[in-house]
Amino acid sequence: MSVLRITNVKVLDGSGGLPFLGEVLVEGNRIAAVAPPGGTPPRDGVDVIDGGGATLMPGLTEPHAHATFPDAASIADFTSLPPEEHTLVSMHNARTFLECGYTSCVSAASAKPRLDVAIRNEIEAGRIPGPRYLANSPEITVTGGLGDTNQLHLPYHPNPTFSCVVNGPDEVRRLCRLLVREGVDLLKLNISGDEFSPSARAEATVMTDAEVAACVEVAASRGLRVCAHARSAESVKMCVRHGIEIVYHANYADEEALDLLEAGRDRFFVVPAIGPTWNLCHGTGSPWGLTPEVVRARGLERELEVSVDTIGRMRKRGIRVLPGGDYGFAWNPHGTYARDLGHFVDFLGFSPMETLVAATRFGAEIMRRADDLGQVKPGYCADLLLVQGDPLDDIRILEDRARILMIMKDGRLHKAPGRALSSRQ
Ligand SMILES: [Zn+2]
Repeated sequence: MSVLRITNVKVLDGSGGLPFLGEVLVEGNRIAAVAPPGGTPPRDGVDVIDGGGATLMPGLTEPHAHATFPDAASIADFTSLPPEEHTLVSMHNARTFLECGYTSCVSAASAKPRLDVAIRNEIEAGRIPGPRYLANSPEITVTGGLGDTNQLHLPYHPNPTFSCVVNGPDEVRRLCRLLVREGVDLLKLNISGDEFSPSARAEATVMTDAEVAACVEVAASRGLRVCAHARSAESVKMCVRHGIEIVYHANYADEEALDLLEAGRDRFFVVPAIGPTWNLCHGTGSPWGLTPEVVRARGLERELEVSVDTIGRMRKRGIRVLPGGDYGFAWNPHGTYARDLGHFVDFLGFSPMETLVAATRFGAEIMRRADDLGQVKPGYCADLLLVQGDPLDDIRILEDRARILMIMKDGRLHKAPGRALSSRQ
């Protein structure tokens, strides 16, 4: 078994405790010891990395990942991408997550039914680099809901490739069983609309309780989870009612919805995913026609304002809110994931420590791996980053890939620190 000593580091362990000077021993894929300086004595055959005072922290989790989203500007561009190219794009994106320090991802939907599953399987088999990846279904929607981009004058496609359009509990059940058969870890429901969906805006709730219940029933029968696009207050309440623990967006959660989330705060996670909205409100979408004026007319500026207020109230109530989400659009591209961490600190009122705990310890909890991921602790999986500088002083340093000196997943170095930092003894 390989043994590695990482010495001379500031350990930021992900628990929420203050960082401390120390060293870490990695045996195989596990953290064997976390000790004060000199606490893991050198011995023969042990590789050593001298961290040079850099910060050693757990790998990050992206809780609303889309490895299959190709940085395109429209859903039509996602759908028209042939599966061959689409698979390669997804493979490259999986590597990008890891290269940005994200060692775990919960997918929040696959752009084609089997893409996520194939990517997850290749990563798990060690054939392609990527994070630990929970594979999702395509977005499941209803006629006229978010993702139903069919047009009446065009031949109806019975199995749309981006979102699957179904109506009524029987159709939902049949589709969910099919997707479970294909190997997903999660199912994704679009319970509310979206400002990008002309026939169902963000505050509309388009799915019925019976439809949601049918999906949850299929998932529960196979031990799988459901996550939901839920912007409207009612859709958030539906998530709680049906035990859907991963709630995406929740922008318009009202007092009743917040009370329900707070009462279930050990169970539910909220991932607001404000990155694309923030970017669009700041002009990043202009090259694709989504100018600030267009964005304002679509209601996104208001949505951002409301979200800042809602998320602030969630934070005060102790609801688990996780940074990340919806990278994979032209105006919110892959590789910029860590911007969300800065948004949490700069706009949403979280401290750097709260944000980092949300991205690591809570990340492990949303992965359902709280006992062995997301912290630098003996016995935990060696998913570790060595970061030049201290993210508690400036969280935005995590946006700079060059400052992530080492990336280790499951005890294996994806990125080794430069020669100057490592030695053998
Ligand atoms: Zn998404």
